[in-house]
Amino acid sequence: MANDTNRFQAIISHCKEYGFIFPSSEIYDGLQAVYDYGQMGAELKKNIRDYWWKSMTQLNDNIVGIDAAIFMHPTTWKASGHVDNFNDPMIDNKDSKKRYRVDHLIEGHAESLKTAGKDAEADALLAAMDALLAKDDFAGLKQLIEDNKIKCAVSETCNWTDIRQFNLMFSTEFGSTVSSDAEDNKVYLRPETAQGIFVNFLNVQKTGRMKIPFGIAQVGKAFRNEIVARQFIFRMREFEQMEMQFFIRPGTQKEWYEKWKETRLNWHKSLGIPAEKYRFHDHVKLAHYADAACDIEFEFPMGFKELEGIHSRTDFDLKQHQEYSKKKQQYFDNDIDPATGKPYGNYIPYVIETSIGLDRMFLAVISQAYEEQDLSTEEKKDSRAVLKLPVKLAPIKLAVLPLTKKDGLPELAEQLMAECRPHFRCFYEEKDSIGKRYRRMDALGTPFCVTVDHQSLTDGTVTIRHRDSMEQERVKMSEVRELVMKAIC
Ligand code: ATP
Repeated sequence: MANDTNRFQAIISHCKEYGFIFPSSEIYDGLQAVYDYGQMGAELKKNIRDYWWKSMTQLNDNIVGIDAAIFMHPTTWKASGHVDNFNDPMIDNKDSKKRYRVDHLIEGHAESLKTAGKDAEADALLAAMDALLAKDDFAGLKQLIEDNKIKCAVSETCNWTDIRQFNLMFSTEFGSTVSSDAEDNKVYLRPETAQGIFVNFLNVQKTGRMKIPFGIAQVGKAFRNEIVARQFIFRMREFEQMEMQFFIRPGTQKEWYEKWKETRLNWHKSLGIPAEKYRFHDHVKLAHYADAACDIEFEFPMGFKELEGIHSRTDFDLKQHQEYSKKKQQYFDNDIDPATGKPYGNYIPYVIETSIGLDRMFLAVISQAYEEQDLSTEEKKDSRAVLKLPVKLAPIKLAVLPLTKKDGLPELAEQLMAECRPHFRCFYEEKDSIGKRYRRMDALGTPFCVTVDHQSLTDGTVTIRHRDSMEQERVKMSEVRELVMKAIC
């Protein structure tokens, strides 16, 4: 692992080799920025999703989950501002015809300045970019690119077009009849799951008899026609979001915003990932709907990048839906306002949103877990690739390995499998040497391997091997299930 680029490449190869992630439709050479999760990846992704879902819905009495459709009435996206505002400023290089997102182009240059030890210059460049982005000053941004002689990586020239806005929503058509006006049939693939929550706000509030403050959580696919889609599953065109909208009384947003920032950071830390891998980044340019916003950034192999967004969305979305649908989106609050001695009455709630990409969380978890270890001794060369995944998230919790294929060992091993299978994911393997089988389980991130040997037949004990320390201990076979269950909780 000479450098972070090599490390990132090693993680991508590992994901493919061990059935975590494949390029989509690979036999046709793949589809850019679209990926499939394999047999191990689907399990790991599900475990991350479940961990988030449980932390939101099961552990909070005032948060419920929904599952809204991907297709929504097209007016939803007019009301939310996505038709008019869901744009990224882009610039094209006239020689290579390559298109760049302006902030990525400038950030990339700042990164190379930092690598060259010019930290102050890089910081000044980023500060200038933030200020210009905040004003939507495209002429100023182009000037900044030219003044800094930022080149296209392909043509290596500074021959740039003007900066233009590019909408990121995918659209398709509904129904079988072709309309003369294509706009009539146009529907969008949702670019975020949040709007499915907003349009169901009153349905959930009324049927669930929810009292403010309360939250609605959702996990689901989102689609964005990302222009510069690279860095593996960090930026995809089809991805999954885990979002929660927390509905509150107007005027309490500052306090809830701070609370959710803390709660979400604690969620990340609860997985045992070191705190220094995370940092907050406050938004300089606020989105059209927000009165405060920050990202939780994670130190990915390619540096600190956004993993989760926490946004104070005011009453923007519900107000917009009220206006476009002509249906009141109000809540009646019968709690007494101490200032007036009367109920708070009718209002459109304010919202704090927490929004995390499931795929980005997957990348954070797997890149943190991946280690290549040199285990060579004077006698022989040896190494292993190990995924030190949090036990709760590991795709397989326990591998059951009979030492040989005979003498009744497979039958005894099967007894242990039968005992554990209903409670957590187990894996049975009798091929190859024990050493090879351990290595394979290390690469999949399996925290416990149990070897059933001849001694097991006589005294009912087995060897349990711990993934991270590689330590082995002799335990009663009847205690294995409990031992693993304890580690999962
Ligand atoms: P970025 O600045 O990286 O494009 P964003 O600020 O547009 O992200 P949000 O709209 O706040 O992202 O979406 C919430 C979360 O969804 C992000 O923090 C990220 O984890 C995830 N996400 C957004 N876009 C993508 C994508 N193209 N691929 C994978 N995950 C994504």
